[in-house]
Amino acid sequence: MNKPAAYIDTHCHLDSVLNKMKLNDLSELKKQFSDLAPEAFIHIACDAEAIPFFERILESEADVFGAVGIHPHDASTYNSDLHQKITELMANPKVLAWGEIGLDYHYDFSPREVQMDVFKTQLRGALSLNKALVIHTREAEADTLNELGDSALKNLPMHIHCFTGDLRFYRELKSTGNNLFFGFTGVITFKNSDGIREVVQNCGEEEILLETDAPYMAPTPWRGQIAHSGMIPQIVKSIAAIRNKSESWVYGLCRNNTRNMYGI
Ligand SMILES: [Zn+2]
Repeated sequence: MNKPAAYIDTHCHLDSVLNKMKLNDLSELKKQFSDLAPEAFIHIACDAEAIPFFERILESEADVFGAVGIHPHDASTYNSDLHQKITELMANPKVLAWGEIGLDYHYDFSPREVQMDVFKTQLRGALSLNKALVIHTREAEADTLNELGDSALKNLPMHIHCFTGDLRFYRELKSTGNNLFFGFTGVITFKNSDGIREVVQNCGEEEILLETDAPYMAPTPWRGQIAHSGMIPQIVKSIAAIRNKSESWVYGLCRNNTRNMYGI
């Protein structure tokens, strides 16, 4: 039985949270949480420098799980050693997915053709190991759809993280027939997010995941501050209001969805 408000933050960057909040470790962060504290965390490492911390925290903290993959921002740093290292990390049962990987044409920190190439390589890597995926997509809708449309990917659970697209893009993604989950962050509480709230309202309830993307995307009323996993209850309030359901319904639903996506 789930506790009434059990939740897992399915996407956070604990190293950046600790850094920005000037905390030494997770136990110090946990002191910031209210009674509605997360049951577990899925911590994301998305560049090579983040891997040592990733390995340490998965080893030392029972309630920290992980996903690792190279972010489109850092696609230019991808090489065969890194590919090999990530492949090895996937053998750890606490590493639940390959990601976040994808395309980001908003910042274009790596050239688009490199992003595309590295995205393809990592998709193939995940496919060969039958690993779930965490997808980052920003201002790259057509190319993202093109890559994810590969029918070989249909059986891998896929978390479209920090979804900020509109209902049209949501429907296009669904038309790929993939096994999709959508992570909603504090962005859904922002004043100008009507388009995303429309997705929260209309998407399949079995597709909704709770995530912070901490330290980014703190929900209202903390917008602009350093986000942490203990802010999820604010996101839950918002989803409950949008779907016209109780908060405990949202917690129960998302806890089950997390199990379906990540097996925890
Ligand atoms: Zn992230």
